Amino acid sequence: MARLKKSRVIQRAPSFLGFKPFGVQKLSGEDVILHLEEYESVKLCDYENLTHEQAAKIMNVSRPTFSRVYQSARNKIAKAFVEASSILLEGGNSVVGILWYSCPVCELNFSSIIDEQPVCPFCLSEHVCKVDEQ
Ligand SMILES: [Zn+2]
Repeated sequence: MARLKKSRVIQRAPSFLGFKPFGVQKLSGEDVILHLEEYESVKLCDYENLTHEQAAKIMNVSRPTFSRVYQSARNKIAKAFVEASSILLEGGNSVVGILWYSCPVCELNFSSIIDEQPVCPFCLSEHVCKVDEQ
């Protein structure tokens, strides 16, 4: 029986649809499809410099799952980079987080789809507040 895949939480949907290399005579023809959760994993690890553990908590997945998503993202980006392919962003298996929280201890803002008082994924403080507007 097929196992239901858990949705991964994206903090914020990216404001673009993809990337195109420039200066190439002819595109290789094969676009690389990067899923939103893969985009998010690279953003959290390489842009926000979070550990895999922290990023996994933010995305509501286990650490091994996170590592798989992240590795897949890096392989795809490397392939596009080396082969001069376009990158298209697609939904994949993700939801954009709707409940936002703010941690007064470390000032991290994060989203969660778990509708109960969550714990700060960065400092593990339980005293997080819901943010109304994002
Ligand atoms: Zn915190």
